[in-house]
Amino acid sequence: MKSLRVRFAPSPTGPLHMGGVRTALYNYLLAKKHGGQFVLRIEDTDQKRFVPGAVDYIREALEWVGIVPDEGYGYGGDYGPYRQSERKEIYDRYIRQLLDEGKAYYAFDTPEELDTARREAEKQGRTFTYDAATRMRMRNALSLPTGEVKRLLESDAPRVVRFKIPEGRTLVMQDLIRGQVRVDTSTLDDKVLVKSDGLPTYHLANIVDDRLMEITHVIRGEEWLPSLPLHILLYEAFGWQPPQFAHLPLILKPSGKGKLSKRDGDAGGFPVFPLSWTDPATGKTTQGYREAGYLPQAFVNMLALLGWNPGTEQEIFTMDELITAFDLLRINKSGARFDPEKARWFQHQHFQKLSDDQMLELIIPVLEKHLQKDIRSDDGLMDYTRKVLALVRERLTFPQDFWTWTSFFYVAPETYAPKAVKKQWKSQTPEIMEQVLAVLENIEPWEAANIKQQLSDWINGQGLGFGKVLQPLRLALAGDLKGPDLFATMVLLGRDETLKRIRRALETLPG
Ligand code: GLU
Repeated sequence: MKSLRVRFAPSPTGPLHMGGVRTALYNYLLAKKHGGQFVLRIEDTDQKRFVPGAVDYIREALEWVGIVPDEGYGYGGDYGPYRQSERKEIYDRYIRQLLDEGKAYYAFDTPEELDTARREAEKQGRTFTYDAATRMRMRNALSLPTGEVKRLLESDAPRVVRFKIPEGRTLVMQDLIRGQVRVDTSTLDDKVLVKSDGLPTYHLANIVDDRLMEITHVIRGEEWLPSLPLHILLYEAFGWQPPQFAHLPLILKPSGKGKLSKRDGDAGGFPVFPLSWTDPATGKTTQGYREAGYLPQAFVNMLALLGWNPGTEQEIFTMDELITAFDLLRINKSGARFDPEKARWFQHQHFQKLSDDQMLELIIPVLEKHLQKDIRSDDGLMDYTRKVLALVRERLTFPQDFWTWTSFFYVAPETYAPKAVKKQWKSQTPEIMEQVLAVLENIEPWEAANIKQQLSDWINGQGLGFGKVLQPLRLALAGDLKGPDLFATMVLLGRDETLKRIRRALETLPG
């Protein structure tokens, strides 16, 4: 059996949207599941829309999520070149073939002439399409006398090549996700195959390449479904067997209405790009999943389930598990609503799966940024950080959460959260805290269970409520009321620092 070959064929017109990464992912999963090849092809025949940096971005994004092409642009392989702008001679040959066989034709209509045709159609309440009904009224190799065509071709008159859509046929096509799709060829227009700059359009280049690169399955976004009839007709015109097609459902906005866009991300405060992207035209940077602190495995897991389901209750998958479970036929037909909360949930699950050492690796840069110093060379600080991490690890979703929860372990509070002060630092608090100081000074050994025991005994002996003592104590130590276990916190801070912080709160907060 021929080996399964799929391709991801982005156009480098900007950063990859998360929908693009999902397309790459589904292709990759299918290839890996069946021992096939995943090819990266750069579709850059539209020079006007080319954006510098986009190709590197695409490769970096794929590698970040763990989708490493088996072959393709930048990865080598036997079917190259893998960048369409380097394949012009190949396309020229195939265009020649269609022209010679009368399946495509030159058209010389100027943009103005096409505009006029459009406007005239509009006047009659129609939309203009260049097709069997109109082509003989336009200026092309089918409508003009042979001599005139010859003259135009020999001059430098601008020209395009159009595909001659066969008339009066009903095409019956198969899509692996959508089933049978039927289209009447009279609804199709004579699409341009070669533009006036001599480069092929996406349609021509795409099918020639899929054929020459021996692609067996074309898995791509739903926005390409309307092009499927043209592609099928092109395969037919060349006498080629088409690959199998699967058109993926859209990723929808959190509201469920419409396609997820960059603007939704800006408005909702969530990324839509895998990596951050600086627009070369405006210099504006948009944050990506990577920079927001997402783990690539969480991002991939979330994407995989956006439009596909394993048919079981399982939600947490590693890449290997996805490869095993993946099945094209379980991709949904309808759009998949993106839920930023769910994305965070996947991140939390995967973050919690990390070992302490793995978490530590991610946390060190966060700490270094805030403390402005090298942590790794300080064994004492590393050891301390390990202990702090043990106290808060299950609360963490992102590496940067570590600082939110633990900054007071590293820097004594200088201010105290006003709301917390109002609620917990009452007129009798200073007196209680003075006594707590005395109790803490004498506790031996300075261990969490013992501190807890002795402090509790004292609180009970005084007939005080626990909240009256422990809340202001926490406020003094952490500057706010949130934080991990108070007794473990005191042990980590050490007795001296604990007492110091209580004294400082007594000096600073209202008496
Ligand atoms: N170059 C197209 C895109 O960027 C690829 C479509 C396809 O996969 O056929 O979406």
